[in-house]
Amino acid sequence: MKITCLGTGCPEPNPRRASSGFLIETGEDVILMDCGGGVFDRLVQSGRKPSDITHLFFTHLHSDHMMDYARLVHAAWDEGGTPIKVFGPAPIASITQKLFGHDGVFSTDLIARTENAGSQEVWVERGGTLPRPWPDPEITEIEPGYSFVGANWRLTSCTAYHAQPQLTSMAFRLDVDEKSFVYTGDAALCNEIEALAQNADLLIHWCYRLLGDESNTFIRKMSPDPVEIAQLAKRCDVGRLLLTHLRSSMDTDEVHKTIDQQLKAHFEGQSGIAEDLLEIEL
Ligand SMILES: [Zn+2]
Repeated sequence: MKITCLGTGCPEPNPRRASSGFLIETGEDVILMDCGGGVFDRLVQSGRKPSDITHLFFTHLHSDHMMDYARLVHAAWDEGGTPIKVFGPAPIASITQKLFGHDGVFSTDLIARTENAGSQEVWVERGGTLPRPWPDPEITEIEPGYSFVGANWRLTSCTAYHAQPQLTSMAFRLDVDEKSFVYTGDAALCNEIEALAQNADLLIHWCYRLLGDESNTFIRKMSPDPVEIAQLAKRCDVGRLLLTHLRSSMDTDEVHKTIDQQLKAHFEGQSGIAEDLLEIEL
């Protein structure tokens, strides 16, 4: 499988990093995990089309993990693509309805695009047929522990402790042949993720706090620092570790160097900081 990091940032605006999004290509399937702000543009920059996406999995429904959802669904629809299969915690079904339903946020746009004579003509010229259907992603609401078997891949999940009880959050593992990839989403250290990540070839773990930053008790409890993440990677015996979800204040050469040193001091495998558009072949 090939993994492309489309968004390695957080909610903060950062020219270097879009919010969260990771693309996995395996066989005929193109799987996106999370779709935060800026991920859509990174997808296009990476040379893919919105309608290339076959499956979209949300770890949780914080805005920095789904802000570009509407744009992706709309653009894939406008390209005449097959409806995307979308998997995420509740209320992703009602969010989708509120966006693309007949009284939804985009109803004015969609009525015009499907009923205006000129728009219909453009659609037919592009190979479409009338009447033009509305966007209709295939939604499955999921809970931690959900698993899904694709053509040559298997997705498993577990709870990720982050913003409960307001948000359901999960981490995902994707297994293809003998290779495995784990993406934690936003997650405190926990036994569930430790079990999910065992022997993964690649672990992409969020990092929202530097070693020694004790300024916020809640963040201290819920956000492991680079040393704690490296120790987790070692306990799980993963092949490679990449950090994501960095704050913009962490993006200095000095901080990157410190993080790298801390990772290497506690984890012998390959490690580092993920960057937007980085591609990894497993
Ligand atoms: Zn986040």
